[in-house]
Amino acid sequence: MTTIGDAANRAWVTRSRRAVWHPCTQMKAHETLPIVPIARGAGAWLFDFEGRRYLDAVSSWWVNLFGHANPRINAALVNQLATLEHAMLAGFTHRPVVELSERLAALAPAGLGHAFYGSDGASATEIALKMAFHYWHNRGRPSKRQFVSLEGSYHGETLGALAVTDVAIFRDTYAPLLHRNALVPNPDLRQARPGESARDVAERAAARLEAHLAAHHATTAALIVEPLVQGASGMVMHDPHYLALARALCTRYEVLLIADEIMTGFGRTGTFFAWEQAAAPAPDFLCLSKGITGGYLPLSAVLCTDAVYDAFYDDDPGRGFLHSHSYTGNALACRAALAVLDIFRDDDVVAANRATAERWRALAAPLARHPRVRHFRQRGMILAFDVETARPDFARWFFAEALARELLLRPIGRTVYLMPPYIVTDAEFELLATRVAGILDAA
Ligand SMILES: *Cc1c(COP(=O)(O)O)cnc(C)c1O
Repeated sequence: MTTIGDAANRAWVTRSRRAVWHPCTQMKAHETLPIVPIARGAGAWLFDFEGRRYLDAVSSWWVNLFGHANPRINAALVNQLATLEHAMLAGFTHRPVVELSERLAALAPAGLGHAFYGSDGASATEIALKMAFHYWHNRGRPSKRQFVSLEGSYHGETLGALAVTDVAIFRDTYAPLLHRNALVPNPDLRQARPGESARDVAERAAARLEAHLAAHHATTAALIVEPLVQGASGMVMHDPHYLALARALCTRYEVLLIADEIMTGFGRTGTFFAWEQAAAPAPDFLCLSKGITGGYLPLSAVLCTDAVYDAFYDDDPGRGFLHSHSYTGNALACRAALAVLDIFRDDDVVAANRATAERWRALAAPLARHPRVRHFRQRGMILAFDVETARPDFARWFFAEALARELLLRPIGRTVYLMPPYIVTDAEFELLATRVAGILDAA
């Protein structure tokens, strides 16, 4: 075996800084902030070229469910590679895309029987927004062209998706390019006034939504929400009752409801889809991506109802949904997604996760009591808390401190969240919680 010195790590970092424009990054910051070179992954760990390891406690931007280099997903992909890697989906079809569409429909809230595919989360948002507008257009109501989203929402960063996103750092520069939409208050449970329950907060926010829809339903095509957890604005959590209220209001005011489960889907919030916790009729659209392939390949899907599908079904081509991406329904990606669904079925993952989430809650209890921690919160496999700190560079500082302790963590502002792959062992989670507490001690 050859020993690779630190020089190997450094070489990849230098070459990357020169040739790769990294996402969500001021490249100049990398003069001091480390870029982490990754040579390989195994389970919940990523390894650099030196053999140093990092616990992937953010599931590589929320996509990984069952660990890196998962043998079962690997085997499915190897098998698919020998059969069909990709074929165009316009006018053609193949086994993985048909099976995946049927299985997603069976798992989704009842009535979402038609799957349209994209390649990433933002394109799923674009598809849902365009479909919602086009639905009303086909129904003879083209004035319904506005969208409503929640304060602190994140639905992706292409121009259409950014227009329904409310995260200043992503949005502000591009605001002049964006279609004007409406924002309504979110039911963030940290906003509870003394004596108010999470449910009360949900009702207060829903009343604001109702006032908006009462005034603007004639020009509103759809409401888009991240069910239960608004991820990118800092793991902002709300009571499921809000979703039931929003569903009822959208029905009453004839506004379509888009559930963006790009982050919350595939077991992340404790049920297979977050929407299940709403105890309400299905949304009109369900956007899926991220965990759909277990973190292997880019793929997204928008599921919709018969009512939406039927409004496009016509002899007139112009009434069809004329939207396409080159890699739509990619066979390898669909096969990875099928392998993910097999794991959910064979290992009864949702039930197992329920027990895992309880163990994580217990293991994180000392962290929840840390004097710097505020608003400790958990929804299924997502734990988050806000940190009391005067450091203006907290997120960067924490990221570097975490790396020094073999942890990959990326706080959002002063919110730290733990969202590892479902397969981390109790010992690994305990290591994570203990070392995070150590960082907070140093803060
Ligand atoms: C990540 C995310 C998106 C965007 O997905 P990309 O694949 O990054 O384009 C949209 N909505 C939500 C809720 C997300 O978390």
